[in-house]
Amino acid sequence: MKYQSFIGLEVHIHLLTKTKVFCGCRSAFGDEPNTNVCPVCLGYPGVLPTLNLEALRMGCMVARSLNCTIPGRTWFERKQYFYPDMTKNYQISQFASPLGQRGYVELEGRTSGAGRIKKRVRIKECHLEEDAGKMIHTGTVSLLDYNRAGVSLLEIVTEPDMESGEEAELFIQRLRRTVRYLGVCDGNMEEGSLRADANVSINLPGRGLGKKVEIKNLNSSRFVRLGLDYEIKRQGEILDQGGTVVQETRLWNENRDETTAMRQKENAQDYRYFPEPDLPVFCPDEAFLKSVEDALTELPQTRMGRFMDEYALGEDPAELICDEKQGADYFEAAVREAEKLGLEKKDAALSIAKWFLSDIKHILNREGIALQDIARFKAGPGRLASLAAMLAQGRLSGKLAKQTLELVISEDRDPEAIVRANNWEQLTDPEQIARAARGVFAAEEKTADELRLIAGDSAKEKRRRTLTAYLVGKVLAATGGRADPKIAGEQVEALLKASLV
Ligand code: ADP
Ligand code: ZN
Ligand code: MG
Repeated sequence: MKYQSFIGLEVHIHLLTKTKVFCGCRSAFGDEPNTNVCPVCLGYPGVLPTLNLEALRMGCMVARSLNCTIPGRTWFERKQYFYPDMTKNYQISQFASPLGQRGYVELEGRTSGAGRIKKRVRIKECHLEEDAGKMIHTGTVSLLDYNRAGVSLLEIVTEPDMESGEEAELFIQRLRRTVRYLGVCDGNMEEGSLRADANVSINLPGRGLGKKVEIKNLNSSRFVRLGLDYEIKRQGEILDQGGTVVQETRLWNENRDETTAMRQKENAQDYRYFPEPDLPVFCPDEAFLKSVEDALTELPQTRMGRFMDEYALGEDPAELICDEKQGADYFEAAVREAEKLGLEKKDAALSIAKWFLSDIKHILNREGIALQDIARFKAGPGRLASLAAMLAQGRLSGKLAKQTLELVISEDRDPEAIVRANNWEQLTDPEQIARAARGVFAAEEKTADELRLIAGDSAKEKRRRTLTAYLVGKVLAATGGRADPKIAGEQVEALLKASLV
């Protein structure tokens, strides 16, 4: 690597406050344009903003989860600029004392190759501001929708501690998961609930930061990676040819997989920041800070580590299960229920993890139930635990367990009741299975004869195994799938042996 790269991200998240940050308008995506507006968010002269405390609280929750300090005094500034999507001609934002300061995250995960990412990314700040409206360009006219104007926006700014598109992508993915866990943002990048600006510069090693380029408004973590990798390459080629990188703002063109110049970047002082005179300084008191701490939750990365220790799960299943908080909650509840039914914790976890990551996820998908709505899923944790317990106790075959699960969902009944009603409880009585096996031997005379003929012929071992499996399958079928396959196998072998002597 000839050059060193420096990447800093500015991530904007829409907070899930019911109303906008400085007025009482509804905050929602997808409503009829210009229906959630009022004189305050439309920037009429003479109106006064009022601060949404919930937005501050959610912002502070994110800040604390990113190990930021919440200052004793935090306030708002006006950031002046002119743009049609912002009728006040200034944005209320934070500048000198944002609500979250100097934090960090431990970024850890796998790269697409065999490598690992493990580094600390410092968080410069988290600040609260209002979003602008939305411009829709159609042919010769531009339309404006101000529903988004004034929506609570939290901006998370990192120090330039990342070095590759892959690291930045992982950062975004991890941050997205965190804010979803906290329940303060839905993380929906397509709808713009989470968007990122990516800043990147390169330089010869040891020379420090280079001239930065900002890639604006990336609405997928993949575009963050692609845009940055493209930019690192582009800047490298400029330096290779003895040129200098122009400090500017660029846009990612997702159709052409390249960045294109948008504008030369304004300097911070151009915004003429000054304290917002219509909002008081906010001095968080103990009660407020406590409400923030109380609302925090075990973060996904921590939870994943705990799952690996406590339940002896591998990294992959732990990661997959912890992807959504509601999924991880479901998993833990099911494990607890299975323990109550007498399973060892780690056995329970292994079985529940398997079910959760295959059948349950598959069915949720099929039924169109998002993990957040898993509470309305008919196969709740208790029912899954009961299935797992029946399996572990050998009372139900794997195949019938799957059928039972389907009936749990279609009939909304407990697995125990379904198994009883269908007489699906596994047959483990050897004598009963032997009886079925004798019946099969009588019906399958030719197969049985061939087996006797090739017994002991090591060259025919494969054929012998195929035929045996065939007979075992017939025994299972004869018992309606209820015979314990292991015992069925033993009985078939025993019958064969007996008929040889
Ligand atoms: P600006 O005032 O232009 O917005 P900031 O200092 O606020 O710049 O930084 C914005 C983002 O750009 C931060 O995420 C920061 O880490 C990143 N950044 C700043 N300087 C550089 C640089 N030279 N190279 C790469 N990233 C940078
Ligand atoms: Zn309003
Ligand atoms: Mg900035």
